[in-house]
Amino acid sequence: MRFPLHIKILVGLIIGVIWAFISSWLGFSEFTNNWIAPFGTIFINLLKLIAVPLIFFSIICGITGLSDLSVLGKLGFRTLSIYLITTVFSVSVGLLMVNAIQPGKTIDDAARIDNRISYELWATKAGKIKNDTICFVCNEKYKSRVEEVKRNEGLKQTDDFVSSRVELAQKTKSSGPLQPLVDMVPSNIMLSLSDNGLMLQIIFFAIFFGICILLVGKENAKPIIDFCNAGNFIFLKMVDVVMWVAPFFVFALLAGVVAKMAGNDVFKIVEIFKGLLSYSLVVIAGLCFMVFVFYPLLIHFFAKGQSFKGFLKGMAPAQLLAFSTSSSAATLPVTIECVEQNLKVKKEISSFVLPIGATVNMDGTSLYQAVAVVFLAQLHFVELNIAQQLTIVLTATLASIGSAAVPSAGLVMLIIVLESVGLNPAWIAIIFPVDRILDMCRTVVNVTGDGAVATIINSWINEKEAKAN
Ligand code: ASP
Repeated sequence: MRFPLHIKILVGLIIGVIWAFISSWLGFSEFTNNWIAPFGTIFINLLKLIAVPLIFFSIICGITGLSDLSVLGKLGFRTLSIYLITTVFSVSVGLLMVNAIQPGKTIDDAARIDNRISYELWATKAGKIKNDTICFVCNEKYKSRVEEVKRNEGLKQTDDFVSSRVELAQKTKSSGPLQPLVDMVPSNIMLSLSDNGLMLQIIFFAIFFGICILLVGKENAKPIIDFCNAGNFIFLKMVDVVMWVAPFFVFALLAGVVAKMAGNDVFKIVEIFKGLLSYSLVVIAGLCFMVFVFYPLLIHFFAKGQSFKGFLKGMAPAQLLAFSTSSSAATLPVTIECVEQNLKVKKEISSFVLPIGATVNMDGTSLYQAVAVVFLAQLHFVELNIAQQLTIVLTATLASIGSAAVPSAGLVMLIIVLESVGLNPAWIAIIFPVDRILDMCRTVVNVTGDGAVATIINSWINEKEAKAN
């Protein structure tokens, strides 16, 4: 019996998790890490290998497939506007949920008081202005606690992980306001092509190249157009070939990720989750809301002729891959295939909307950042006022646009959101233990959002064409 691809990937995923649990139970985590996990890395490498040239050819083919430049202008404007609206919406959902459920207040008050004291000590040292008038450090009642916290703080060593991330985020922040624009324009396309992180530069070049093909006229550029079309077909075939073995690769990937978390002690995963359970549940509930309520409503109202069930079924392979790889960029080749073949979105649209979406549209990441910042504030007895919550909407939106489509990018950018409201960036260490699992979930939402927007734009173009005929 032949099963659809997404079922096979799902089976691979489940067996991978079961394998990781059994192997750490029996003490073979080392074996899993040495002999199984490398296949997961090979899988991600293969996907990345295909992603860069595929995006390149696919954008050029998409643009040269358009009738004229005005269509491209309208398409670009619509795409970016919808991406922005969905991102702002998802940050707002995150904020509403975290303020309503208050996961940071589920831990006992004594621990929160210590956290608050530690925050006040940090704010004074870092010269930050607190946004409230509370002062536990000045309160006689907490004198002994303050001494205790000071002693513990002295013992705390600077965590290498946190300091390297803070440094990275600082670099991003210290550049001027137009730096993202400057970074988008490559000075040497060969260098951009050889570096996976420079996706926006590749997109910029491909759009520029495609526009110039339209300007010189399709007749004059025919050999190049034919070359790009052939290249596009070949790379899509490569996706097909890799996907034949995807269930095994996904098994290896999941086995490796879970085994690394568990080591030789299965209960470690349960322990990791227990302390951060309420926070993780709020993030997951918000992400589920986006996938099962928000996108269905968008599809229902704005994508005529597309049922939500059909949409989910069509996107399933890409979603499962996003979950397994935690990378929208690595998933992109499969997202393109799912959207074109299963959802019947036109090539000119998918090839333009999806690569841009993978890099700038991250609804899952922005929602998670909003929840994480407010959760960390609650954990430290810090109340964020309306102005600060609005700052979160702005910075989380920008941070998610600026996040690279790779694992943990959202966590690094979270530092900027924390700093924007005067909180300690080192707090990312608190949520770090559960970050990989939440990263897997938010990447699913990031990819689903891109697919939903591509479907909506496709239906909009179809309607326009039907009206014109
Ligand atoms: N891993 C996410 C993605 O690739 C980004 C993040 O939130 O860390 O879409």
